[in-house]
Amino acid sequence: MERKGRTKMTILPADVRKNSFDLVMKGYTADEAAEEASRCFNCRSPRCSAACPIHNEIPAFMKAASQKDFGEAYRILCRNTVFPAICGTVCPHEDQCEGSCISGIKGEPLAIGSVERFIAEWAQEQGLTKPEKPEPNGKCAVCVGAGPASMACAEVLARSGWAVTILEKEDYFGGVLSWGIPSYRLARRTIQDKKELLEYLGVQIQYNTAVTSLEELRKSYDMVFLGTGASISNAMRIPGEDLEGVFAAPDYLSAVNLSPLDAEGRRHFDASGKRVLVVGGGNVAMDAARDAVRLPQTEKVCIVYRRSEQEMPACEAELNDAKEEGIEFRTLVNPVRFIGENGHVTAAECAVMTLGEPDSSGRRRPVQTDERFTIDVDTVVLALGFSNDPSIAAANEGLDADKWGCFKVDENYRTSYDNVYAGGDAQTGASTVVKAMKAGIAAARDMEQRRLREEI
Ligand SMILES: Cc1cc2nc3c(=O)[nH]c(=O)nc-3n(C[C@H](O)[C@H](O)[C@H](O)COP(=O)(O)OP(=O)(O)OC[C@H]3O[C@@H](n4cnc5c(N)ncnc54)[C@H](O)[C@@H]3O)c2cc1C
Ligand code: SF4
Repeated sequence: MERKGRTKMTILPADVRKNSFDLVMKGYTADEAAEEASRCFNCRSPRCSAACPIHNEIPAFMKAASQKDFGEAYRILCRNTVFPAICGTVCPHEDQCEGSCISGIKGEPLAIGSVERFIAEWAQEQGLTKPEKPEPNGKCAVCVGAGPASMACAEVLARSGWAVTILEKEDYFGGVLSWGIPSYRLARRTIQDKKELLEYLGVQIQYNTAVTSLEELRKSYDMVFLGTGASISNAMRIPGEDLEGVFAAPDYLSAVNLSPLDAEGRRHFDASGKRVLVVGGGNVAMDAARDAVRLPQTEKVCIVYRRSEQEMPACEAELNDAKEEGIEFRTLVNPVRFIGENGHVTAAECAVMTLGEPDSSGRRRPVQTDERFTIDVDTVVLALGFSNDPSIAAANEGLDADKWGCFKVDENYRTSYDNVYAGGDAQTGASTVVKAMKAGIAAARDMEQRRLREEI
């Protein structure tokens, strides 16, 4: 019997999306979601659930969705997740649930993320995402940072009756969801829905508040959660990196992604030039290049990566989308200096690379050859990975962090300070939304258990 392929989803065509910050993947309709869910084999030992970091009960919600019982599907999802709309949209599915789906062995894996996203958006439309307001339980907690880890922790605590405050150093909500993940991959409405839910649950969000010392917070709140992320950009340490027009990825991405949409649905970043060079081969590089393509003044975008395409860490879907949007890829190429005129970058001198023996990551090590060439540029974006901010650990004696500045925690996300938890990128180093959410949920559940056991 021939196996059915994936149910097609409406996708914004490449020539349209080059001028648009609208969502590329439009999402399933109810009929499409049910049709796709009906492809699930309902495996008895589902490998997809095992591969999902939060072990979503995928066959169970697929069965309900295939019968168009989306309310039941949503209830099943809520046992494990508080971000089904977000994770359904941005999880690296091919490495997680969908990468382990047995349909993928001989055909196309089930579009698990897209069905999950449909169920969550359906539940939002039906008003199912708002619980009854819980009775206050007399306990209070503070979450530092307004990214996914803290958002999840705050939601679970607030749903249990805790009084929760979020302290955020920036003037906007969502952490990387807002400044990093562009609106053509994650709708701003989805982030806004979460913010509105937290506010409805009574969570106080205080912006422009950077936390360093935890002393006062530990006295004022029963529990503290650190969800401060890992957004310090790694540098190349080559000449010319300080020229005007050379940007670290967070500066470039936030300037574009946080700028308001104009009447034609475009965003603007006037400091970006006509010819944009992005350095790096991960998803952040793809996002920066795809942002650049969409700016009105851009004429050309090129990504340079020091290994070959085979070693690129970017997920296949993002890579293909970037290619479709006309971004040029030059692999086995690495800048060795940036050249400028009057203090502004004008060119990148690049080395041709070759691949040596595998390094500790298992990928073949890039080795520089003597061959050089230059690329004329007006703007460079460095997307070379992120490090953790060591300042909170440094300012709080006895708060344990590893040599990379990641907070050390036990299996319940408790740090070395009795009433302080940590999770998300601040604890793991740069990772994924679903893992940050998992940490926030687990920490909140442990706090609630301690309250019920009257330990606090
Ligand atoms: C460009 C980009 C694209 C990505 N795309 C994806 C994707 O498609 N799918 C995916 O799963 N993952 C993706 N990721 C990774 C994912 O976004 C992160 O793993 C996730 O956001 C981590 O959540 P977090 O809450 O730990 O940290 P963050 O999202 O970084 O949030 C931390 C928050 O804490 C605030 N903060 C920091 N220090 C302080 C302080 N001292 N006081 C107060 N507030 C503070 C920050 O301003 C921020 O708002 C992407 C990352 C980037 C950079
Ligand atoms: S949370 Fe992410 S990994 Fe888990 S089922 Fe949903 S899309 Fe897949």
